[in-house]
Amino acid sequence: MRKNIVAGNWKMNTNLQEGIELAKAINERVKTNNCDTGSTGVVIAPPFSHLYAVNEVIDPKKICLAAQNCATEEQGAYTGEISAKMLKSIGVKAVILGHSERRAYYGETSETLLKKVNLVLKNEMKPIFCCGEKLEQREAGNHFTVVENQIKEVLFKLSAQEFEKVVIAYEPVWAIGTGKTATAEQAQEIHAFIRKLVLAQFGQEIADNKTILYGGSCKPSNAKELFGKADVDGGLIGGASLKADDFLGIINKME
Ligand code: PEP
Repeated sequence: MRKNIVAGNWKMNTNLQEGIELAKAINERVKTNNCDTGSTGVVIAPPFSHLYAVNEVIDPKKICLAAQNCATEEQGAYTGEISAKMLKSIGVKAVILGHSERRAYYGETSETLLKKVNLVLKNEMKPIFCCGEKLEQREAGNHFTVVENQIKEVLFKLSAQEFEKVVIAYEPVWAIGTGKTATAEQAQEIHAFIRKLVLAQFGQEIADNKTILYGGSCKPSNAKELFGKADVDGGLIGGASLKADDFLGIINKME
């Protein structure tokens, strides 16, 4: 049985006090979700500066703490970077990698992402690996190829055992922060495509068990329809994860 997950990516928003309040508000209202073993999961990814303090106010059985990025190197003279090992040491359980903002503004490539994925796995955390096409790529009909390459160049370099720990998030770039959500049919089409790729690479059982999230202007009003699709196993949420009511409204749409 694959796990349904709703993950909130706070990006570079909230100061520490606001972040703690938001985490507390979510924690109070999340019910039976279990970060490690339950059939549904709630994840929050605050900025690096908030992680330690947020971890103090959440129940790790209800909410899984995630970071938004990590370094490509293990340790050493890399001023300003945060390593996977550091994240692990403060209670982080998952790391978002390959978000389109990082690919676009910080030049992340498949090569750098493979290093990060490996370090996250080495430190026994879960990579939440983002993929998705830009508007012009969709308009040219290249979205399947773009997503296939992003996945093959990183995730298909892993062993089956490593790949089992990865959560995939399909996030069409044209839908992120734009208010323009992919239709549930568009999401289902590409999620089914991704699952087929996984099937061909790793076999039926791993494909059936793989959690594939949708991200891009997901909100309480459209979450039910999106999550109702057979191959959509929850969402990666940006803007709507910054208000407890909206985030809870989306979590409640998880089956
Ligand atoms: C995201 O950045 O991962 C995202 C899905 O953002 P939003 O929900 O704001 O579109």
